[in-house]
Amino acid sequence: MASALRPRVLKFGGSSVADAACMRQVLAVVREALPAAPLVVLSAMGKTTDALFRAARAARGGDLGAALDEAEGLLGRAEAALREVAGGVAPDEALSALARERDALEVLLRGVAMLQELTPRTQDAIASTGERLSTLVFAALLAHEGVPCEHVDAREVVRTDATFGAGVPQPVALRARAGERLAPHLGPGRVVLTQGYVGATEDGLTTTLGRGGSDYSAALLGAALDAEEIQIWTDVEGVLTADPRVAPGARPLPHLSFAEAAELAAFGAKVLHPATIQPAVERGIPVTVRHTQRPQGRFTTITAAGRAGRPVTALAHRGPVTALTVHSTRMLAQAGFLARLFDVFGRLGVSVDLVATAEVSVSLTVDAGAPLGPLLAELRAFSEVTVVERRAIVAVVGERLKHTAGLGARVFAALSEVNVEMISMGGNEINLSLVVAEDDAPEAVRRLHRALIEAE
Ligand code: ASP
Ligand code: MG
Repeated sequence: MASALRPRVLKFGGSSVADAACMRQVLAVVREALPAAPLVVLSAMGKTTDALFRAARAARGGDLGAALDEAEGLLGRAEAALREVAGGVAPDEALSALARERDALEVLLRGVAMLQELTPRTQDAIASTGERLSTLVFAALLAHEGVPCEHVDAREVVRTDATFGAGVPQPVALRARAGERLAPHLGPGRVVLTQGYVGATEDGLTTTLGRGGSDYSAALLGAALDAEEIQIWTDVEGVLTADPRVAPGARPLPHLSFAEAAELAAFGAKVLHPATIQPAVERGIPVTVRHTQRPQGRFTTITAAGRAGRPVTALAHRGPVTALTVHSTRMLAQAGFLARLFDVFGRLGVSVDLVATAEVSVSLTVDAGAPLGPLLAELRAFSEVTVVERRAIVAVVGERLKHTAGLGARVFAALSEVNVEMISMGGNEINLSLVVAEDDAPEAVRRLHRALIEAE
């Protein structure tokens, strides 16, 4: 990159850009960031992507009428927002861009309905419409308000492979494209605007990064441009210490380490997907999670190191999962047994969440949706397996866990009569995971939250 300018990436989620009023609030946040050379990355207006998926499915089922109705609904919402942000009369240029999106979407849906076939490639072409509509509306708002803006199609920048539906970013190409297409326009006092979620292959075919992929876009672009910060603007004041519906005392965390965030996300916390933050981790760029409607409110800063004060930073829980206990029936040495055991999971593509081993038995948990039939058939060829369904994992996460003596005792004391069926300390020593009956999980989280977080 030519300059040492470090832009600030601001990503706004679907609920933040749901309609014209929301977009105005986004503008207020963006205005504050103008001196920091903002790159603004938008999700589709709330619920739009779901509607695009429904439209695509209706078309595949041969119901073109339903597909076009669904499309018209989301296009109508975008058009209404467009007119509103432009003070009633949208500029012709924006209206014709919208008309092009409408035509392209209709052609795609007609094609799908005619063939009654929906390939992942076509699905991506359809799904990507949502983000283009939302940046189109926001660009019109910026124009109306006189804020200078360079509106860039993410397909010119976010290079992925051809895995449609889950495009794998190509960081070298992406960085080069960002340097050419975005960097020259970044600077104080103006906005560079692009879509989240959307990318393109080397041949220019539209791809997506997978559902919820806009955060990932923001991190990828931030990493490519050496951003000073990546701000994820959403509808919560940061990452909370636990799910507030379960633990009413849950509160936003000022700091979180990347490793903690990844553990929390993997074990059910709803804020950031771990893969999302990876590109930022690698470059040491802080990621903040903020509330669009309360820009002066609290927020969480996620950095490589974190800055936890207490041993336990936060709790997460996820269920249902299935717990398996596998006993070796053959006189296999432990090493041979483990190799054989994990080979089965590997071949069947079943990922294992938690593992606890003893000399000749292993307890582990798998997703409740795992193919139990084939799994058990293979495992029972060399072992005895007991299966317990409807369990949940409760994860106790904190960078300082590894330096805290006696935590296990406190965890068990807090849980008192809640029965813990399995316990596992993650290899990185920042995640103590417990398996409990699914019905006990909320109570377990509440008790742990009171004892390990509220009491500290
Ligand atoms: N609009 C996409 C989705 O709903 C991507 C995102 O919002 O992050 O999955
Ligand atoms: Mg989202």
